Amino acid sequence: MNNLYNTNANKEKDDLISSLKELKLKGYFDFENISNVAFDFGNTYHLQPMAVLYPKTVNDISTTIKHVFKNGNVYPQLTITARGHAHSLQAQSQNQGGIVISMESLEEAEVYVESEKQPCYADVSGGELWIKLLRETLKYGLTPKSWTDYLNLTVGGTLSNAGISGEAFKHGPQIHTSNVLQLQVVTGKGDIVNCSEQQNSDLFYGVLGGLGQFGIITKARISLQPAPKLVKWIRVVYSEFNLLTKDQEYLILSSNDSFSFDYIEGFVLTNIVNNWTSTFITKQQLRVIQSVSQGKLLYFLELAKFFNPQDQTLVNRKTEKMLSKLKYIPHTLMESEVGYVDFLDRIHPSSEFRLEVIEYPNISFPWINLLIPKSKIHLFGAEVFGHILANISYNPILIYPFNQSRWKDKTSVVTPEEEVIYLAAFVSQAKINSSGMDGLENMLAVNQRILEFTEKAELGVKQYLPFHETQDAWRAHFGKRWKLFAQRKLAYDPLSILAPKQRIFPRGQPILL
Ligand code: FAD
Repeated sequence: MNNLYNTNANKEKDDLISSLKELKLKGYFDFENISNVAFDFGNTYHLQPMAVLYPKTVNDISTTIKHVFKNGNVYPQLTITARGHAHSLQAQSQNQGGIVISMESLEEAEVYVESEKQPCYADVSGGELWIKLLRETLKYGLTPKSWTDYLNLTVGGTLSNAGISGEAFKHGPQIHTSNVLQLQVVTGKGDIVNCSEQQNSDLFYGVLGGLGQFGIITKARISLQPAPKLVKWIRVVYSEFNLLTKDQEYLILSSNDSFSFDYIEGFVLTNIVNNWTSTFITKQQLRVIQSVSQGKLLYFLELAKFFNPQDQTLVNRKTEKMLSKLKYIPHTLMESEVGYVDFLDRIHPSSEFRLEVIEYPNISFPWINLLIPKSKIHLFGAEVFGHILANISYNPILIYPFNQSRWKDKTSVVTPEEEVIYLAAFVSQAKINSSGMDGLENMLAVNQRILEFTEKAELGVKQYLPFHETQDAWRAHFGKRWKLFAQRKLAYDPLSILAPKQRIFPRGQPILL
């Protein structure tokens, strides 16, 4: 029986490979070097697909999806995953036994910049990295407005989540419709659709923050503004969490005044030991930290003001005035001036992260990202920083607020129901085979304790870059927005072909509203 099953499975696979080889494409399938895509930044899962498509054109993607969709009964398990820069953590950009589409190989990747019309915009491939988009738009003196902390991520990859950083309080996330004006999407039926707020708006909103469930973003129109040349970059330290959050909230809410910062973040360092170092902190900053730390938790506010050289004096004066209103520990002011690109491109986990995965096979990144309503942030801080992480080095934890008014629209992403919400990003690394506190199992257990606490205390927290293993957990995540999410799945990817490793809609099972 087993042999018969294997023989049938092998024949089905051979037929599928032959049928894919017959497709008329400008790009090509690779059926051999599949381990090239069997990893991601998280370094926990290594799933082998059956084939990798290196598309040259959007038609290559459409033709492939149409083929799989039309033969849905013949290949009832076959799924397709768009792979951006694979910076997801739990295999979301991988595929077991199906097809991975390498989005970065799209040749229609040239960035077109429209600098005459208002608003100015760039048309860019969904597989393009944000750092490359930035370099292109700067040639016209222009820049996108909303960023992530790290720029080696693809446009399609971040738009499938939300794309947030310290600019989000001012410009909203990257998926806000003032930042992304239009998309070209290939749906789960293989249709190529242009969409925007005016045209096919349901698909447009659905795809933004849609975790790759409704279509593959092949092009995006990103809104631009004039680029500044310089950045005043500031870090200050607080002894108490509530002083940090009070100042952060004051700063984001005064963002409509004549002077406001352009970037507001913050982070917490727990249990700093004497020999602790981090690429995140300069040596000079480390000395300041050690002078005030004494084994305590430390809270940092991080600010940036973008400006041009002719405004230097004014910016200095206004920054000083604004800082004088804040309650940080006085001698902890750390200030520098850097170029705009140097600031945006400040994080370099690795220049080629695949090499890093090979070089450090024992390191994993068990990150969790939580969105917390402002009214619960102190309860959260007291338990998580004060108890759960009290004796653990779990650094850094990014924490910063933004206004929902700059965020909420009809996109797929779900956030807590309050005007001001905080992001808490636990972005540590773990040793895969260690049983110490920095071992993967221990760190996952700590993450679990944090998640269980937020649920038990009913804080109304939502995961950002969400990871859930069952459909019930996804239903709870989406809450009353589940029905719309599932309806969109039925409309645009009724066979559940796309992005299976988000683990929301299993292929071959009915989509239940
Ligand atoms: P991938 O990991 O390749 O894909 C992620 C998901 O999106 C997969 O399900 C995939 O199938 C789908 N997908 C990919 N491309 C497309 C497409 N074109 N169309 C449709 N679906 C697609 N996020 C923030 O918001 N702010 C940050 O500051 C931030 N910093 C980060 C720093 C690091 C070092 C890392 C590892 C991650 C960070 N992230 C941040 C998270 C990041 O935004 C997401 O993991 C994002 O999905 C990564 O983009 P990617 O191109 O690597 O996508």
